Amino acid sequence: MSDRRRFIAGNWKMNKTIAEAEELVQALLPRVGAVEDVDVVVCPPYLSLQAVVDSARGSAVQVYAQNMHEQDAGAFTGEVSAPMLTEIDVAGVILGHSERRQLCGETDRALQLKVPKALESGLIPILCVGETEEERERGDTERKLRHQVQEGLEKVPKERLHEVVVAYEPIWAIGTGLVATPEQAQDAIAFVRALVQGFDKEAGNRVRILYGGSLKPDNAAELLALPDVDGALVGGASLDAESFATIVETARA
Ligand code: PEP
Repeated sequence: MSDRRRFIAGNWKMNKTIAEAEELVQALLPRVGAVEDVDVVVCPPYLSLQAVVDSARGSAVQVYAQNMHEQDAGAFTGEVSAPMLTEIDVAGVILGHSERRQLCGETDRALQLKVPKALESGLIPILCVGETEEERERGDTERKLRHQVQEGLEKVPKERLHEVVVAYEPIWAIGTGLVATPEQAQDAIAFVRALVQGFDKEAGNRVRILYGGSLKPDNAAELLALPDVDGALVGGASLDAESFATIVETARA
C-alpha cells in the first residue's frame, strides 16, 4: 500500500432536506466519527452544510460542498462563493462533477479558475474527470482525461498540486450500477497520475486519486486494493449510513 492517506467522500447530490441530512450525519458519527487513518468526507447540498458542519464539529468527519463559483462575489444569481463556504467551516469542494458538466454547463475554462481559487481560499478541491461510454468505445478515454486534467490543473501552483484530490469517474458508471473493472479503473487512474507527474513528478506521486462510479460495499474491496486508487467518491451508497461506514472500514483495512 502507498503512504498516501486514504480518502472516502460521500456525494449526497440533491438529496436530503436539512432534517434528513441531520439524521444521516447523526447516524454516521458513531460509525465513522472517530476514524483517524482515513479522510472521511461528506458533501451535502448547500442548504444543509451549516447543520452538518455543526454536527460534525469535533469529529473526524469533514464537510465539503458540491460546487462553488470562481469569483468571490458579484452578479451571479444562484451561485455560492469560496468565502461563503469557508465562513461556515466547510473544508473542501467537489469541482467539475460530470452531472454539473453535462446538466449545468460547467466548463473546463471555469474549472481552470475554480481549482486554484478553492486552494487559495483554504478549500481542498476534488476535481472530477471521466469519459462517456461513447468516448471509451471510440478509444478516446485517454484523450478526454488528458484534456480535463490539464485544463483543471493548469493554473494550480506546482507547490500546491499535491493538495488537489482528483476523482476518476467514468460517466457510464455513475448511478448506473455498472462499475469499472479493476483493470479499467487502475489503467485510467495510473494514466491520471502520470498526467499529474507531467506537471510535477513529486506532486504526481503524492496526489490522491479516487475512483467513483457505482462503488458499493460489495465491490469496494477490490477497487480500493488497486495500487493507484487512493479512495472513492461515493454517490448512491453514501446516502445510507451503514453502507458508507462499511466502505470507510474497507478503506482502513
Ligand atoms: C458520483 O456521483 O460521484 C457517484 C460516484 O455516484 P454513484 O456512486 O451513485 O455512481
